[in-house]
Amino acid sequence: MIFIKSEEEIELLRESNLLVGKTLGEVAKHIRPGVSTLELDRIAEEYIRSQGAEPGFKGYGGFPNTLCISVNDVVVHGIPSARCILQEGDVVSVDCGTLKNGYYGDSAYTFEVGQVAEEVHRLLETTKESLYKGIEKAMAGMRIGDIGHAVQSHCENAGYSVVREMVGHGVGKNLHEDPQVPNYGKAGQGVKLKEGMVIAVEPMINMGKRHVFQENDGWTIRTRDRMPSAHFEHTMAIGKKGADILSTFEYVEQALRKQ
Ligand code: MG
Ligand code: MG
Repeated sequence: MIFIKSEEEIELLRESNLLVGKTLGEVAKHIRPGVSTLELDRIAEEYIRSQGAEPGFKGYGGFPNTLCISVNDVVVHGIPSARCILQEGDVVSVDCGTLKNGYYGDSAYTFEVGQVAEEVHRLLETTKESLYKGIEKAMAGMRIGDIGHAVQSHCENAGYSVVREMVGHGVGKNLHEDPQVPNYGKAGQGVKLKEGMVIAVEPMINMGKRHVFQENDGWTIRTRDRMPSAHFEHTMAIGKKGADILSTFEYVEQALRKQ
C-alpha cells in the first residue's frame, strides 16, 4: 500500500531528512585514513541524539548500529567495526537514517578516503550523476520504471552494472514503504507516480559485474567479483513539476570543500 503524504507530513519528513544531511556532514569531517568505521558511527549517533532524534537504523530488523558503512567491495549494509580502519584510496558508502517526530529520513553518500584511483573516482561520479538522472523522472505522471531506466542506462552506458537485489523504497512513518524503486527497468512501466508520494532513490552501482552476496553476519552485501561499488541516496517528495528533494548533500559538500 502506497501512502500519500499531506503537506504537514512532508514538512516533518523534510525535518528528519535535513537531519540526515547534517549528520552526513558531521561524518564527512572525520573521514580520513586511520579512522575506524565504529568511530564514525559513534559521531553520527551522538549528533542525531543531540538533535532530539533517534537513529533510524539502530535496531531496525536487528541492525546493531546507527550507520551502514560499506567500504570498497561492500555494496551496502556494512556493520561499523573498531577493526575496520579506513585506508588511503578506499571508498566508503555511509548510509544514514533518522527518526524524528515519527517520520524517517534516509540518505547515503560515498566518500573518497584521501586520493583514490581515477577509475574508482569515475565510478563514484557516474553513480552520483545517475541518482540525479533518476530524480529528473521523479514527478507526478511518470512511472517507477522511468526512474530505474534513467539510472540503469546512465550507468550501463559508462560500462558499470546495476545491483538488482536491493532497491529504493517509499519513506514515511516506516523506513521502508511501498513502492519499491529499482535502479533498473523499462521506461513507461510500473507504478504511476503521484503528488505526495515520498520515495528514496538509491543507485547501487558496481564497477564490475552486478552479482552480490551476503556475508555470514546476515547484513554485509559484497560484490561477488570483489570490485568496488558505489551508493548515493536521496529521499524526495513527488511534485507536479518535479521532485522536492528532502535530504541534502549540502553539508557533506561544505565539509569536503574545507578538506
Ligand atoms: Mg539509506
Ligand atoms: Mg534507503
